[in-house]
Amino acid sequence: MPLTYSMPCPNCGHSAERLLTADGKLIRTQCSTCDYLLITCRTTGKVIEAYAPGIRMHALPQSVLTPLPDRSVPSH
Ligand SMILES: [Zn+2]
Repeated sequence: MPLTYSMPCPNCGHSAERLLTADGKLIRTQCSTCDYLLITCRTTGKVIEAYAPGIRMHALPQSVLTPLPDRSVPSH
């Protein structure tokens, strides 16, 4: 059962949804307000996929790409 919870969108500041995939390996963050999308590997912190409106992946500011510390993922 994937975990979902809300967090402030790093791009627009509105409420975004963060989802931990069922296998626990990927963290997906998406914002329906601005279409921001970020998929990171939970173990390596590597960005798998990222998208923000009008910004190409490689041009995203570091603050948008940096995954939140793992403690932000609920352990239960
Ligand atoms: Zn947003």
